[in-house]
Amino acid sequence: MKCIVSVDVEDWFHILDMPSSPQIAEWDVLPSRVEKSLMRLLDIFSEKKVHVTCFFLGWVAEKFPRLVLEASSRGHEIASHGYSHRLIYEMTQDEFSRDAKKSKDVLEGMIGRAVIGYRSPGFSATAAAPWFFEKVIEAGYLYDSSVFPARRGHGGLQPSNCAPHWVARNCGRLLEFPITVTRVLGKPMCFFGGGYLRVSPYCVIKRMASKVLKEGRPVIFYIHPREIDPGHPRLPMNLGRRFKSYVNLRSTHGKVSRILDELEVTTFEQFIAENGHLIQAL
Ligand SMILES: [Zn+2]
Repeated sequence: MKCIVSVDVEDWFHILDMPSSPQIAEWDVLPSRVEKSLMRLLDIFSEKKVHVTCFFLGWVAEKFPRLVLEASSRGHEIASHGYSHRLIYEMTQDEFSRDAKKSKDVLEGMIGRAVIGYRSPGFSATAAAPWFFEKVIEAGYLYDSSVFPARRGHGGLQPSNCAPHWVARNCGRLLEFPITVTRVLGKPMCFFGGGYLRVSPYCVIKRMASKVLKEGRPVIFYIHPREIDPGHPRLPMNLGRRFKSYVNLRSTHGKVSRILDELEVTTFEQFIAENGHLIQAL
């Protein structure tokens, strides 16, 4: 069993669900850092000779098409993080469908091949949007990685299965890859992305990853370019959010390097090619 490494390609100001979060009309004039920090990540991946899945925000892809082409030409999988980085449950079904299709179209137009994977902003697939899977399937995606199977600020959905599994609807089916959690003192906990990865010591991440792999599940890691860019501007926010958003930015680069050195990693697309037949149908 391998680990799947993913990058949610967005900028430092794409932090969700705060009064200070800039609106899309303001994004164009903010000083962007995503080019530099994604290139730095891509260089780490090249140095370690690994391929990962890049979930591009459609807005970022349109502004920096060179980044999409660079990631694709280096052999990374290009997937979609939606277009405008809005929480699912704050959109109508139609708004969500348009957003999910627009980002897919933008990316496919750039790379000239199918984009099969989707990840929602903030893992915001919750019980408040029961139509979510149907709309992702209708948009033409073959897999999704939007479910966070534990409590979380703007997400959290308890799936029937924490391992990759098929989700069937009348319009078709897709493979769901819930974000990896493992039980600690009876509670599902994540150690493998965002603030959870930044706050956890490397030895704990490694031990928990080994435990998950032994259970026959892939470990899904997720990182953001801003997390290896400690000098990026900060948005005003309360103490709790500030801790979650900015803790340990200086050590993330080193942790990611060690993960790539010590664990076998792949993309979602490659994982499905190698294991799709083993994932039990509902
Ligand atoms: Zn995001």
